Amino acid sequence: SVATPQPYLSGLNPEQRRAVEATDGPVLVLAGAGTGKTRVLTTRIAHLIASGLAYPSQILAVTFTNKAAREMKERIGHLLGGVAEGMPWLGTFHAIGTKILRRHAELVGLRSDFTILDTDDQLRLMRQVIQAEGIDEKRWPARALAAFIDGWKNRGLTPDKVPSGEAAAFAAGRGAKLYAFYQARLKQLNAADFGDLLLENLRLFREHPDVLMGYQERFRYILVDEYQDTNVAQYLWLRLLAQGRRNVACVGDDDQSIYGWRGAEVDNILRFEHDFPGATVVRLEQNYRSTGHILASASHLIAHNTDRLGKTLHTEDEEGEKVTLTGAWDSEEEARLIGEEIEALQAKGHSLADIAVLVRISAQMREIEDRFLTLGLPYRVIGGPRFYERLEIRDALAYLRCVANPADDLAFERILNTPKRGLGDATLEVLHRFARAKSIPLMQAARLLVETDELKPKPRGALRDLSTSFARWAAQVDAMKHNELAEMVLEESGYTEMWQKERTAESAGRLENLKELVRSMEEFPDLAGFLEHVSLVMEMIDDDATERVSIMTLHGAKGLEFDTVFLPGWEEGLFPNQRALDESGKAGLEEERRLAYVGITRARRRAKIMFASNRRIHGMWQSTIPSRFVDELPESHVEVTEAPASFGGYGGSRFDRMTPFGSSYNTPGWQRAQERTRQGGGSGGSGGGFGERDAGSYRPPGRKSGPMLLEGELVA
Ligand code: ATP
Ligand code: MG
Repeated sequence: SVATPQPYLSGLNPEQRRAVEATDGPVLVLAGAGTGKTRVLTTRIAHLIASGLAYPSQILAVTFTNKAAREMKERIGHLLGGVAEGMPWLGTFHAIGTKILRRHAELVGLRSDFTILDTDDQLRLMRQVIQAEGIDEKRWPARALAAFIDGWKNRGLTPDKVPSGEAAAFAAGRGAKLYAFYQARLKQLNAADFGDLLLENLRLFREHPDVLMGYQERFRYILVDEYQDTNVAQYLWLRLLAQGRRNVACVGDDDQSIYGWRGAEVDNILRFEHDFPGATVVRLEQNYRSTGHILASASHLIAHNTDRLGKTLHTEDEEGEKVTLTGAWDSEEEARLIGEEIEALQAKGHSLADIAVLVRISAQMREIEDRFLTLGLPYRVIGGPRFYERLEIRDALAYLRCVANPADDLAFERILNTPKRGLGDATLEVLHRFARAKSIPLMQAARLLVETDELKPKPRGALRDLSTSFARWAAQVDAMKHNELAEMVLEESGYTEMWQKERTAESAGRLENLKELVRSMEEFPDLAGFLEHVSLVMEMIDDDATERVSIMTLHGAKGLEFDTVFLPGWEEGLFPNQRALDESGKAGLEEERRLAYVGITRARRRAKIMFASNRRIHGMWQSTIPSRFVDELPESHVEVTEAPASFGGYGGSRFDRMTPFGSSYNTPGWQRAQERTRQGGGSGGSGGGFGERDAGSYRPPGRKSGPMLLEGELVA
């Protein structure tokens, strides 16, 4: 064959190359993990620029995270050897939406310097709207309204388009009206919330076709990564922009659709072929990331889903190490095992930067982080603050610091009006003045201040309540168990209730973290000991080592890869997560399984699945059974490893000493796993082929056909 004049094409296989070189018309790449979808997009951009089909500024590329955008920019620069001038429009939906909105802000009633509200501001504003309408905030909390409004925005629904049935679900049918008021308030404040960034783009395009046409002209080529996780608003936005030149290339994997709970719709993949007929559809089947055992395990697991398009994957890589499956006695031991294995890898010369721990929920991180801190293993938490830096943890710690030390002014200030109790900035100012004048701590000042008439009756009453509470809690420090005291403080202060009222996935996560905090206190002799530990932890967090282990949620790991991936917490209830099962049934289970697939396929060389037989749930030890996903792994590709007994030693679980090792593995799933290895797995059975069940087939899922009109559809 002819030598390629374009060196950047030489690193591609023929199918990948086809996806890169199909520059005329729509392209859809639908392929499994690690098949080079992202690489195809990056190379395609380089190709478009190098072959003169487009200037960088005429290319729009959408990534799922800012991190992915940065990496893509680097790789393009690298592929082009720095010859290109300028860069494509490259970023997340939100980043690009913001850029467009700033240019035309006045057309949608904003100024170009509009502010983007964070969640706290957003809630404050919603609360105001609810109050202004005379609605009982206790029954209809702002956080619930926020969840509704976000959901509508994700579906591209402006207030006038909200289906009446849904509007009725909030505040006796006033949901849509509140949404409209909220939007009006945003405009008055020259502000947009996160959901507006795209929604206002949609409105802009709809109301100003000339503006839309400008962008349709401009963007000769549009590219989208992680397409399976776009929501309706994003899809509508894309379709509007792409309908001009129709040069849109989307890459995705239905098996990695994991944001259904946030409004993402896998159906967008099917809509694509409908809205862009004649698309070049490319399937990539060679996985370049993972070894044979890892890929076989992931393929076998995901084959248990019925609602999938189905695809074949193979690798030319060696079989490599089997996926390991390790049962620990409890979650503490699980964390200790991870630490030990990482130290062993490190000793063999592996870089910490090539190692990741992927958890299902962020509350799992605390024990692992604590273990790493004990070992002095540098780590970073990706996609979120580290455990002790989380908002709810800092709030809770502030309460406890006030109990332990009434002179801790910083802590007192932090919680004075959290939850809201009518002690706003005005009260704080009076309090500060009073404390300064008398040279006493704020809390002491509060006690004296409520005996004067410097405050209006309402804040005075609230402040009196608060200082009485603190006096009562402080009196219990020696009388009560410190973790029980902590729980009581969080309850009685209304802090727990504040998050309970919210009833969103996010608030549920925060409540889990709070429980995790309370339960972690048991490991310390008393409140002071615990707080000292925390302050040490906080200090260590700020060191500046460069190579670190990554800890993140499975959701945050999408698109990334590491040599070694630890997957702890594969237990029923935790993973698959009970909430997903309760709320979404079979669909929820399948989304959880896709998450497991995403997890395993992040690994290049080593995937290490773990479960614990005991985990403290809501502060109580509960015995757990291994995840059904464990049973769905192909026996011939998995090695069941014994947890090395580490008696004594620092951090040894109390159970090591109480229970002889080995007898602890008494759960059915675990026994099955052990029996399988004893039988020398791999002898026939349904054991792992490379997706042999689906070989060659492209089974359409049982979805309705016909025109696929969307809510918020922009047709006249
Ligand atoms: P995911 O679904 O997880 O996002 P992906 O399909 O986007 O995966 P990439 O991240 O693009 O896959 O590629 C996976 C790995 O395989 C990367 O390290 C990439 O550099 C490598 N790779 C992709 N294509 C090739 C190829 N033709 N030759 C060698 N390596 C390749
Ligand atoms: Mg990718």
